[in-house]
Amino acid sequence: MTALTQSVPDMEALIKDGSNKSALTCLHCPSRILNASVGTYVEKEFSLPAMTKLKSQTDTENHVLKDFWKVSDMFHFENVGFSHTADGVKYLTCADCEMGPIGWHDLQTKENFVALCRVKNS
Ligand SMILES: [Zn+2]
Repeated sequence: MTALTQSVPDMEALIKDGSNKSALTCLHCPSRILNASVGTYVEKEFSLPAMTKLKSQTDTENHVLKDFWKVSDMFHFENVGFSHTADGVKYLTCADCEMGPIGWHDLQTKENFVALCRVKNS
């Protein structure tokens, strides 16, 4: 299994008072995922499979990501989809075009984490 590290250029510009400065949308369609100021920036290492339409996912290449927006309650999302369960987490996807994973949902803590580099700041 390969692990590629993805980092976010110009991250400071995306954060205001520890939260997302602007609303987050899908990279692949106009679907709004999160309103501004709802997520909390956290630095955390987590390995996510490469972005794809999950239903057609065949490879197992993982990317190690470090920058996430934490969303404490799944009902705080504007739109989000959930994929299958794997290792105590559910992957988050775009609710409209199903691209993902854009992050993960922890089944124990109920917290959600959205990767900064997998969403667009609108
Ligand atoms: Zn989408």
